[in-house]
Amino acid sequence: MYAEKLKVMSPEELKKLVRDVPDFPKSGIMFKDITPLLKDKHALRSIVDYFVDIFRGKTIHQVIGIESRGFILSPALAYQFGAGFVPVRKKGKLPAAKETVTYALEYGEDSLEIHKDAIGKGDQVIIVDDLLATGGTAAAAAELVERLGGVVLGTAFIIELSFLKGQDKIKKYPIYSLIQF
Ligand code: AMP
Repeated sequence: MYAEKLKVMSPEELKKLVRDVPDFPKSGIMFKDITPLLKDKHALRSIVDYFVDIFRGKTIHQVIGIESRGFILSPALAYQFGAGFVPVRKKGKLPAAKETVTYALEYGEDSLEIHKDAIGKGDQVIIVDDLLATGGTAAAAAELVERLGGVVLGTAFIIELSFLKGQDKIKKYPIYSLIQF
């Protein structure tokens, strides 16, 4: 199906392409920048194929992408699964009738939204983001899906910061991460 045969990169090789940016977006945060991974055609296809292989044979109705870097991978996966793409966005961005969930951050809280008509009862979905940190964001997205009657088949992340134990918050779903730090 693909036009060009590209090199399959291992998780260890992919890990070397993640760029650490200290103190971004604020002091004390080590930001994991995936843009060097995305610009490499071998890496990009290896990432997409990794998740396509994991969910092969499953019926997936929608791939849920979490704003904003979750939007990068999810349409590529949706295309491969023959599924639709549904955005979960930050508060105030979606135009039509929506469902909102508010969740706790280390300091304060945040909200995520989904269009009410984005998922039907019994629809099977996977939730995609670039990175799993404390798990609050992914858990909130799963809550939105379930409020609409959707079924979360799994969660997929390019990177997992294992030391933050984000798996604890979403342990009722299968969790797949390609690169762990
Ligand atoms: P959390 O809810 O703590 O799991 O945070 C996950 C969300 O925050 C994802 O949407 C990530 O894009 C973003 N995020 C958290 N920590 C980092 C980090 N160190 N580098 C890049 N993105 C991060």
